[in-house]
Amino acid sequence: MATDFAAIADTASNERPEDRAWLADKDHFIHPYTDFTTFQQEGSQVIREASGVTVTDTGGKAYLDAIAGLWCMNLGHGRTEIADAMGEQARKMAYFNTFGHSTNVPASLLAAEVAKRAPGSLNHVFYSTGGSTANDTAVRLIHYYFNRLGRHAKKKIISRNDGYHGSTYFASALTGIHGVHLGFDRISQDLVHHVSAANLYRRPAGMDEAQFCDYLVDELRQRIHQLGAENVAAFIAEPVMGAGGVLVAPAGYHRRVAQLCRENEILYIADEVVTGFGRLGHWFASEDRFGHVPDVIVSAKGISSGYCPLGATLFSDAIHEVIAVPQAPGGVLSHGFTYSGHPVSCAAALATIDIIERENILSHVREVGPYMQTRLKELLRHEVVGDVRGDHLMAGIELVKDRERRINFAPDSGATHKVFVAARQRGVIVRPVGNVIVLSPPLVISKAEIDIIVDTLHETMSEVGPALM
Ligand code: PLP
Repeated sequence: MATDFAAIADTASNERPEDRAWLADKDHFIHPYTDFTTFQQEGSQVIREASGVTVTDTGGKAYLDAIAGLWCMNLGHGRTEIADAMGEQARKMAYFNTFGHSTNVPASLLAAEVAKRAPGSLNHVFYSTGGSTANDTAVRLIHYYFNRLGRHAKKKIISRNDGYHGSTYFASALTGIHGVHLGFDRISQDLVHHVSAANLYRRPAGMDEAQFCDYLVDELRQRIHQLGAENVAAFIAEPVMGAGGVLVAPAGYHRRVAQLCRENEILYIADEVVTGFGRLGHWFASEDRFGHVPDVIVSAKGISSGYCPLGATLFSDAIHEVIAVPQAPGGVLSHGFTYSGHPVSCAAALATIDIIERENILSHVREVGPYMQTRLKELLRHEVVGDVRGDHLMAGIELVKDRERRINFAPDSGATHKVFVAARQRGVIVRPVGNVIVLSPPLVISKAEIDIIVDTLHETMSEVGPALM
């Protein structure tokens, strides 16, 4: 039978873009962090629209987004105030560079608004395009800072196992998650050193929380000694580890580590890409939640509520004083991105800050966050759940095949992926990372919506759990 090309052409032209998207995606889009085998078999779920805490796919099925897109849609989807601010700015002046002495209104105003809310003297903001470039900026400018002080050997960075700091080459070198490095090369082996994760669930047998904290601080002290404090520039840590499995450090850990760093003239970089802008009930978690003021704070994601790519690295007055002095008359600080201080992203961030304030989002998180943590603890009744942990609107549920001995499922069991699929079938999107199911819902989530998440996870664990054992 002859092929009816006219009919095919006609169908193609009548097809909606969202129907073509699935195939186009499968054929041409290299996705981040993707298993190519299952991707080729199943293709992607195409999300078509979103509103509040709900996202809808092209099949018309709606889901509760329990991960805020990817730890970022903090004010929920479809906020017209943010879209309007972006649209207005794009129409007025979509872009002009901020190199040299050029600036734009939203970038300048945002820097002041961020500085106002940052702890201590973190008054100076360098913009980038996301968390990875913001972390790269932190390290590159810290190296520059020590060079300007004539301390050229002070370059090493101490990071932590299971920490996640991004995917640019240097941010990935800072990252301590084993799986992230599989098949890749690591640059900077001599520049970046990792110490233990503050993983209370997997602390050495027989230690209580306080002893574990001593152990971690001692380990860091020894590592500094071994490397030589004169060679160590900075320590980097997330206030609560996110992608490494939502790990909350023992009480006092960050304060003691910050003190140890100060004693050794090592700068403390707090990677607040996830925790900044409200997830733990404060603008920044370092001081208000964990009682210390870092030298550098790295921010992204929630700063623009995920509506536009934006990273911001905040530096203290002391660092700024040194890097702001030209190397020679007319010399410049040669660091920057085309989109540093992008006006549309900064307009989205200004609208975000305005809404957080107007709607009392921080106190809302302080109310619903503990509620979510308490309700999630109920999941411990399932044999397959080894640990439930978190802080405010960040939570991790670790799956185990042997609860007594805290033994995880084999990596090829796909245990957390099965939970993810079963929960999605029931209308809730969670995130599987390693052995942990991660939750980071939009900050505007209600208690009733938290109930839906927890109840769905109960049903899911009841169905999937026994089959996994
Ligand atoms: N730092 C932390 C703590 C993160 O969770 C992430 C991303 O998830 C990054 C940095 C990297 O940010 P981006 O993906 O925007 O480059």
